Amino acid sequence: MAHGTPDGKRLTSERTDRFGESVIREMTREAMLHDAINLAQGFPDFAAPEELKRAAQQAVAADVNQYAITWGAKTLRDAIARRMKATQGLEVDPETEITVCCGSTEAMIASLLAVTNAGDEIVIFEPFYENYGPDAILSGALPRFVKLRPPADPGGEWAFDERELRAAFGARTKAIVLNTPNNPTGKVFTRAELELIRDLCLEHEALAITDEIYEHILYDGAEHISMARVEGMRDRTITINGMSKTYSVTGWRVGWAVAPEALSGAIRKVHDFLTVGAPAPLQEAGVAALALPQAYYQRLAGDYRARRDRLLPALRQAGFEAYTPRGAYYVMTDIGGFGFADDIAFASHLVRDIGVAVVPGSSFYSDARDGARQVRFAFCKRPETLDEAASRLMKLRARTPHARG
Ligand code: GLN
Repeated sequence: MAHGTPDGKRLTSERTDRFGESVIREMTREAMLHDAINLAQGFPDFAAPEELKRAAQQAVAADVNQYAITWGAKTLRDAIARRMKATQGLEVDPETEITVCCGSTEAMIASLLAVTNAGDEIVIFEPFYENYGPDAILSGALPRFVKLRPPADPGGEWAFDERELRAAFGARTKAIVLNTPNNPTGKVFTRAELELIRDLCLEHEALAITDEIYEHILYDGAEHISMARVEGMRDRTITINGMSKTYSVTGWRVGWAVAPEALSGAIRKVHDFLTVGAPAPLQEAGVAALALPQAYYQRLAGDYRARRDRLLPALRQAGFEAYTPRGAYYVMTDIGGFGFADDIAFASHLVRDIGVAVVPGSSFYSDARDGARQVRFAFCKRPETLDEAASRLMKLRARTPHARG
């Protein structure tokens, strides 16, 4: 809805007409309104590691209260470079190739603003994390969507059609935006899939902008492979990551973009004028986070596997077709068995009458009809939260004659 003065002068920009408010964030407000359990927005309801909280407190006490260097405190950039070397074997120059941003959300929009011109195309797999749609609009790029299709057996893998992916690339393709492990599907892209994407990027001189925020949340032996590590991609990849999911601090807003110097130079300029910098004391706490021992990451993945394995059977028992994620902390489900008009009607019933908030599937698709039979659950929650949600969801089954057991 455009806003204007009584004499018709438009006061809001046309670009803001082209996207709505985030449904994910709206569902959190709905959950609060109806006192529902929030399995909508992906943030943990458990504590962050003590070491991080202490480091943040100490940083404030030590008066780390003024701007850090605009592209990130040197201590944090050094720690990010060390970690990328340790986890993915990637050599990154912290002086020229890392930009610390206000969360990976800012890293993504800053990267798109830094590399796209109006009319450039960006390839995006869908369902996609909601932000990428508005990110494309704000940066003036045209999204070309490629479908990820759910497996016939809910324990199988989401997959894309190679021909569709090939067809989405062309002379105007500037970049592909890739999120692996994937929100919302839980897909972890394999080496073969990444190499196919690499071949297309090389053929069309396109960049890869990869959101790897869930890199440590993996199940069933899935391996996370950074696109920058795939041969030929180091020079044309922007790797986005951050503290939010790995260290359970989504509200701290510390993320980063890692890219070759020329790309980083452009990203740094955009970032500087968008936000100047991420919170300085929390960047210092990030140094402590990135120094946590390997056991921390093993435990993180193990705890998430336990949460996944708690929620999945409960969803299936309640009548959902629930697709098993291989990574990240979401479950996409098919709600066809419940006989509702669409995902919005169903999600609204869930939050108001059942007391569980989820994200309607349509939020993850460019055409709402494609998500009309799906909703997403986030399981980054305490076991007791998941159990309470499961017991509430059983009420659905009682009301639904064709729910599967
Ligand atoms: N990534 C999380 C999700 O998809 C949180 C997104 C957000 O609200 N910033 O739910």
